[in-house]
This record gives sequence, C-alpha cells and structure tokens, in this order.
Amino acid sequence: MRYSGFRVIAEALTGHKGWKPVWRDPVPQAEYDYIIIGGGGHGLATAYYLAKEFGQARIAVLEKGYLGGGNVGRNTTIIRSNYLLDGNEPFYEFSLKLWEGLEQDFNYNAMVSQRGIINLIHTDAQRDAFTRRANAMMLHGADAEMLSREQVRKLYPWLNFDNARFPIKGAIAQRRGGTVRHDAVAWGYARGADLRGVDLIQNCEVTGMRIVGGRILGVETSRGYIGAKKVGVAVAGSSSKVMAHAGMRLPIESHVLQAFVSEGLKPLIDGVMTFGAGHFYVSQSDKGGLVFGGDIDGYNSYAQRGNLPVIEDVAEGGMALMPAIGRVRLLRSWGGIMDMSMDGSPIIDKTPVEGLYFNGGWCYGGFKATPASGWCFAHLLAKDESHTTARAYRFDRFLKGLMIDEKGQGATPNLH
Ligand SMILES: Cc1cc2nc3c(=O)[nH]c(=O)nc-3n(C[C@H](O)[C@H](O)[C@H](O)COP(=O)(O)OP(=O)(O)OC[C@H]3O[C@@H](n4cnc5c(N)ncnc54)[C@H](O)[C@@H]3O)c2cc1C
Repeated sequence: MRYSGFRVIAEALTGHKGWKPVWRDPVPQAEYDYIIIGGGGHGLATAYYLAKEFGQARIAVLEKGYLGGGNVGRNTTIIRSNYLLDGNEPFYEFSLKLWEGLEQDFNYNAMVSQRGIINLIHTDAQRDAFTRRANAMMLHGADAEMLSREQVRKLYPWLNFDNARFPIKGAIAQRRGGTVRHDAVAWGYARGADLRGVDLIQNCEVTGMRIVGGRILGVETSRGYIGAKKVGVAVAGSSSKVMAHAGMRLPIESHVLQAFVSEGLKPLIDGVMTFGAGHFYVSQSDKGGLVFGGDIDGYNSYAQRGNLPVIEDVAEGGMALMPAIGRVRLLRSWGGIMDMSMDGSPIIDKTPVEGLYFNGGWCYGGFKATPASGWCFAHLLAKDESHTTARAYRFDRFLKGLMIDEKGQGATPNLH
C-alpha cells in the first residue's frame, strides 16, 4: 500500500477501514542468502538497502522481541553530523544527507525535523575547541556556525547565562541537525524492506551459530535452525553476547543509558541544545514534553533500566542550565543498553569467520547513524568490501592503535 495525501483523506472519510498491516508475519524459511540478526534501526536499514540499493534477495531479519523494541525506539531522537575527526565526519555527514531524503525514499512519515542543534560554550578554551570542530565540519562539506553569547540569548533568553561556575559564552550551531520520530524510522525501514520481499521474523532469538571449518553455515534460533550464506550481526547492546556464539570477544562493554520526558509544556525550545559543562541535552517533542538525557550509568549492565545517581546528575545539569524547569513534573524515564566501544566509535567489518559480519559499538550516538550504518553494512555484505565512508570503522584499528577517539578519553568505554 502506498501512502499519499489522497489516501489519508479517503481513509478519513471511510472510517479508516482500508489500512493494512505494514509488514507480513512470515514463517522462517530453511535457508536465506542473508540473515541480519537484530530488528533495530541498523538491522532493518541494512536489509532495506541490501534489497533496494544492492539488488540482493532471499534476506531475513531475525528479531528476538518485536521490531523497534530496542534502542531505536528508546533514544532521544537527535540527529547531527557535528564531529571533529576524519574517520567520523564524512560518515555522519553521509548519514545526515540520507536523513534529508529518507521520507521520500521509503514513502513513510518519520517526522524528520531539521530544527537545528546548538552546543553551548562556557570557557574560552571550549570556544577554541568548537571553532576547530566547526572548521573541520565545513572542510567535509557540512554546515557549522559559531554563535555569540548575544545570539544565543536571542534564541533562548531564559537560559542561565550568568551561572557563577558555567557562564554561557556562545555556542556552535548546526542548523541541519535536529530530531526524527525514532520508532517511525524502524517502521519505515521495516515496511520498505518487507515490500521488497525481506522476511521480518519477530520473536526469533538467535541462540547459537553453526560454524564449520571457519565458515558460518547458519544460526540456531528459538524457532529452529536457519541456514544462511552470509550473516550480519546488528544487535547494539547485545553485541558481546551474540558474538560470543562465534567465540569472539569484542572491544565493547554494555552500559545503560537513561532518558526522560516531562509533562507537556507550551513551546519553550524549538531546537536541540546541549550543555557544554555537564552532560545534559534537551529538545521539545511535538506534544510539548521536554525530552532530555545525560550520561550513561557508570557500571556494566544488560538491564534496560537505570539507577538514581544518574537521574540526579541529569536533573542537576538541567537545573544549572534552565532554572525555569525546576517545577516541571517528570512524566517518564526509561533505559536502553549501549554498546560502548573502547574509543567511542563504531565497528562495521568482516570477522575472522567467513560469511560472518559485524556492526556495533555505536555507544549512545547510533540513532543518527542509522541510514549510513545500514547503507555501509549492506555494501560490506553485498560486495565484501568496506564503503568509503566506513573504512575507518574496522577491527584492525585497535590492533594498529588507530583509535578514533572523538572525546579524547582513551580506552575507557564508560567515559565516551
Ligand atoms: C536513552 C537513549 C538515548 C539515546 N539518544 C540518542 C540520540 O539522541 N541520538 C543518537 O544518535 N543516538 C542515541 N541513542 C543511541 C541509539 O539509540 C543506538 O546507538 C542505536 O539505536 C543502536 O542501533 P539499533 O537501532 O540497531 O539498536 P536496537 O534498536 O537496540 O536493535 C538491536 C536489536 O537486536 C535485538 N537482539 C538482541 N539480541 C538478539 C538475538 N540474540 N537474536 C535476535 N535479536 C536480538 C534486540 O532485541 C534489538 O531489537 C540513544 C540510546 C538510548 C538508549
């Protein structure tokens, strides 16, 4: 079923009885050419681009729960390409360009909203660092702008500009950054993949891998054995668990990241804003709730919920920046499991097992990467070589010491 304005009007006049399920519920076949493990944003985008851009067929996505129940439906929906390092900036800019045409591409309303993002500056040294970043972004063809304190004041006069510890001295802005309705991204890719014949198999947990003579032959699942010529793993926070089935130990730790939404408010903030002196980022949903988050919980965990110290830390960050929200009520908080890599950057690569490919290590920045990650992983699966923008994201960077450490924190996953 194609969506259009005409269709919406016709359905509205006939009691919305004509809408059909957006994807099929197929029974797993005995064998596929490609199995993608993980029905999150990255797995679904990979299947979609494999079929659409690389002309591949006989593809299945195996998801242990329901499509979009993982981090793709739990994040704070921020997209941007304001990275500094050579390995990262071209990839995230490629992703932002794909976001810009995504809704037309898969004919689904994902509410891509380029409402702009600003990162606040609180010290002169930070201004120097952000100016360097803005220059690096522009060298890679992205947009960047430095804002003065007065320009920021014009945007958001209610910010705490004269906080004794963290006065606001300006900001770096990326006008093309913004937000996207996260679960609609999963639904749009799922629908697009299904339309091209991809089998989306839910409630199908991968519990083992059949590897003979260094080659993968298929996967054991909660719904039986399924054969495959190639298997791509895109399971985000469960990366270490799933790759353990192939005997691999990854340079990745799993941590919980929490997020929060307030009660609905009148329009307060029309873009995305990040605090430059603490870990706090905020935007306002179309329903009026402030959507915000902060740091990961400081210990390893596979639980999809977090703990109180981080809630307190996020609330403190919010209050330091926006004292006006002091009496706003919190509506909900939730958590997702983050695949934190050693240098804070992702991995899209082959593995030592023939036919087995890995995509992960997205830390808490993988939502914005969804289109490019899917495209580059599909490229790798179909052509057996890395896409140009993802060449830096190979396992051997850890062997060669070529870390892509955007934050400059060293090999400490919980600090990235
Ligand atoms: C609170 C929060 C806020 C965030 N905010 C942002 C943000 O603003 N911007 C941004 O860019 N990123 C953000 N992120 C990060 C981003 O959401 C993730 O990096 C990204 O969604 C991970 O990729 P995914 O969508 O494929 O993961 P997921 O949606 O988690 O998909 C992985 C899937 O694999 C499935 N799976 C696991 N094990 C198995 C198995 N054995 N068999 C079959 N299936 C399996 C899971 O059920 C899951 O559905 C945030 C994350 C969280 C939790």
